[in-house]
Amino acid sequence: MTPITCMEGRKLALFGLGGSGIATALALKAGGADVLAFDDNPKSIERAHAAGLTTFDLRSADWSDFAGFVLTPGVPLTHPEPHWTVELATAAGVEIIGDIELFCRERAKIAPDAPFVAITGTNGKSTTTALVAHVLRTAGYDVQMGGNIGTAILSLEPPAPSRVHVIEMSSFQIDLTPSFGSPPTAAPAEAGAQGQAVDLDPGLLRDERVGHGPTVGLLMNITPDHLDRHGTMENYAAIKARLVASAELAIVGIDDAPSRAIFESLARSGHRVLTISQDLLPVDGYHFEGSKIFASFGTSTSEVADLKGIGALRGAHNAQNAAAAIAIAEALGLQPEEIEAGLASFPGLAHRMEQVGRRGHVVFINDSKATNADSTEKALLSFEGGIHWILGGKAKAGGIEPLRPLFTKIDKAYLIGDATEMFAASLGNEVPFVRCGTLDNAVAAAAEDASRSGAAEPVVLLSPACASYDQYPNFEVRGDRFRELVRALPGVEMRG
Ligand code: ADP
Repeated sequence: MTPITCMEGRKLALFGLGGSGIATALALKAGGADVLAFDDNPKSIERAHAAGLTTFDLRSADWSDFAGFVLTPGVPLTHPEPHWTVELATAAGVEIIGDIELFCRERAKIAPDAPFVAITGTNGKSTTTALVAHVLRTAGYDVQMGGNIGTAILSLEPPAPSRVHVIEMSSFQIDLTPSFGSPPTAAPAEAGAQGQAVDLDPGLLRDERVGHGPTVGLLMNITPDHLDRHGTMENYAAIKARLVASAELAIVGIDDAPSRAIFESLARSGHRVLTISQDLLPVDGYHFEGSKIFASFGTSTSEVADLKGIGALRGAHNAQNAAAAIAIAEALGLQPEEIEAGLASFPGLAHRMEQVGRRGHVVFINDSKATNADSTEKALLSFEGGIHWILGGKAKAGGIEPLRPLFTKIDKAYLIGDATEMFAASLGNEVPFVRCGTLDNAVAAAAEDASRSGAAEPVVLLSPACASYDQYPNFEVRGDRFRELVRALPGVEMRG
């Protein structure tokens, strides 16, 4: 745990008693703060009591008493409308912060030079965070990994000069971290409502509190997401921009327009910034071609890694993730052979292109996290062909129509769940398919067909392009069931 001693003796309100909320309240309490915690859900309040916390209905609190208000990132700060606690805090002029802000302030107090890597982006955050942590650990570093992945940040060990914190951050978390800079101009809600572009100039993103930002900040990419919570793309991008604008070294993936605008703005202001791209560009940074990753500084370009044969890093999207991880590792001073060893032994994350087994020449891949066509596209692009594709569940708007150009890679499709007829209509005469109903039937049929395939390395791929909740509580349970079914097949060797 990281006790938050910088709030010692202060009275704070806290809302949201899920896992990270309880961890935050305990860390504040351990540091000597007086925390009044609350949640709309009585069960969460019970859990907080059981953990020894003081709860209080914040509707009837005297907000002028509070030195700060700690909000859980799952609760709306601005959109679709501010939560009632946000309105009470704003009316009383109480600052609203999140757990990562508390970490930043504690780090500034007890170990300001402790390495702090912060990672954001619309896609690839978890993979890149896990990969950076793995590479550093393999090289013998003391690593604490968490935030939006795995462990809540304040449940990790405290910052220390020889310990690296590798922290995944969602846009909601950045929005609650004023150490990374405040919203630049008008209140985001107003700017969003009027559809104005928010100026991304990092100069404007800074205020006097900045200085406690990350040692290295990585922005992977920005595509439309969570706009219900951020109002507009401009606002969403401006929030993401703060993480890199406040970092000592910024690393920005520049293959989409909003991220590129952020990079240009940082570069114009003289910020230390490196790029990640699929193209070789006349800027310092890393780019990838197929499985190879290159570093370019000034006029010299050199190969720094080849991902060929690393099962957990298949596909162009993972080349972007690996290039970013290499950039961070090099910035922290790792040697090329240390980075190479870390990449080669990366086990991958469960449910994201996870190789769960092999039987003869057939590989079995669990990509249950792919709950929409966009994610499944990444999976299909990762293989030359010979794909036995298990898909279906609760379909998203548009279904698998965007994947039509990739249908030639599919040997056969195995349909499950509610989306069966919708997907059958899309596949039509282009792809042979079979209606399997359940995942159990689909795995049995796909494994059988793949074993008779003439392809060099046929793939049985669960990449459903659908939510799971017509048949499973969540994508993790669906992926776990797939892994279990594959490993129960006779003759399957486990590789994970
Ligand atoms: P996040 O934590 O940002 O949700 P993950 O690393 O968990 O990202 O990956 C989730 C899915 O997003 C993957 O299964 C893959 O389909 C897709 N993905 C991963 N990395 C990238 C990337 N760099 N660019 C685009 N899509 C990606």
